Amino acid sequence: MVKAVVGANWGDEGKGKITDMLAQQADIIVRFQGGANAGHTIVNDYGKFALHTLPSGVFYSHTTSVIGNGVALNIPVFFNEIKSITDRNVPMPKILVSERAQMVMPYHILLDQYEEERLGGKSFGSTKSGIAPFYSDKYAKIGFQVSELFDEESLKEKVERVCGQKNVMLEHMYHKPLIDSKQLLETLREYKEMVAPYVCDVSDYLDRALKEGKTILLEGQLGTLKDTDHGIYPMVTSSSTLAAYGAIGAGIPPYEIKEIITVCKAYSSAVGAGAFVSEIFGDEAEELRRRGGDGGEYGATTGRPRRMGWFDCVASRYGCRLQGTTDVAFTVLDVLGYLDEIPVCVGYEIDGEVTANFPVTWKIEKAKPVLKTLPGWKCDIRGIKNYEDLPENCRKYVEFVEEQIGYPITMVSNGPGRSDIIYRKSPLRK
Ligand code: GDP
Repeated sequence: MVKAVVGANWGDEGKGKITDMLAQQADIIVRFQGGANAGHTIVNDYGKFALHTLPSGVFYSHTTSVIGNGVALNIPVFFNEIKSITDRNVPMPKILVSERAQMVMPYHILLDQYEEERLGGKSFGSTKSGIAPFYSDKYAKIGFQVSELFDEESLKEKVERVCGQKNVMLEHMYHKPLIDSKQLLETLREYKEMVAPYVCDVSDYLDRALKEGKTILLEGQLGTLKDTDHGIYPMVTSSSTLAAYGAIGAGIPPYEIKEIITVCKAYSSAVGAGAFVSEIFGDEAEELRRRGGDGGEYGATTGRPRRMGWFDCVASRYGCRLQGTTDVAFTVLDVLGYLDEIPVCVGYEIDGEVTANFPVTWKIEKAKPVLKTLPGWKCDIRGIKNYEDLPENCRKYVEFVEEQIGYPITMVSNGPGRSDIIYRKSPLRK
């Protein structure tokens, strides 16, 4: 059986923690999209880790961690990450890399930087990890699959051809140093040595695992609002962040995905530019940022301060719908314990009209939040294990959000650790 753990919003909802927690009962954890541009923060018995490429199952000895074909694989980053965890006494995880995964090339990273420089103030706020140039090349059919490293003759010819094209751009558009194709081929030979022990026909492996009754977790990166098609285009990521894409990015049949756990944070945060209706500013934002997450809301990859806002029911309802949510994991609720009152965005006012539907980007840019204020609970809820033991106002907050978004909140996370979780029976769960 396959479960997906995905985000409803802009990312950073706490998917890493939920995946790490669900991985206790899983056999295989698969990353199916995205690259090293975003990260998960995981707190467990070995310490606190920021993962960018490795699936959140790497801390268990009973799981196999898989890099699916949909991922943008940066081989040096991947290896440094393995080293960074094994250096801290985590046993060497079992890892498989799809032979169909494509590789982030050194020039993708450079082109990402050069393009952001060229755009100046109009930039996309890219993390400059090469993800957009990577996916552009993949769909322009000039990307490099891991499998191609093992076909030396064709590789040589393709490297020459692609370098020829890239160098025209580097010279005339960006006025930057050219790529030396021989050096690039050398780098790719090093990549081959590094990745060889892990390469696998992942789709076949997962097919066999499913037949053996294994539990597979698909781990998403970012959230619905960053999906290329359904997000706040063009301020989106370059791959699909939806559970549906998990089938493609892992190579399994879509009907095998039986549970879709959509992670929603109890307030909003976003990195990078783009529409964010319930955003707050100044001291109010700073206080939430400082108290947020586990040690503040700063990017796991970039360290950038995240933009902060109140919970957005409009965006989250849409986010959950597009994911095909069976369960909502409502996270970081403990952080709101300091507030006397908690505003929640329940509608968007656009040109004098209020809507509860998440519209297209240019309309969101004009939207003003319609806020409803709920009473706070003014205490620390960490350590509570039963839903009934939460303060009444805290339960009311959860139930209000559930009613607004229309999807069952069956898990409430009240701390960063694996065991900081409250399971809840939801009237909406079929
Ligand atoms: P992801 O990319 O969706 O995995 O999210 P991040 O890891 O970037 O951000 C989530 C942050 O919140 C991390 O620092 C987690 O350790 C932390 N976190 C997750 N769940 C909770 C929770 O319920 N309470 C608190 N206080 N922190 C949490």
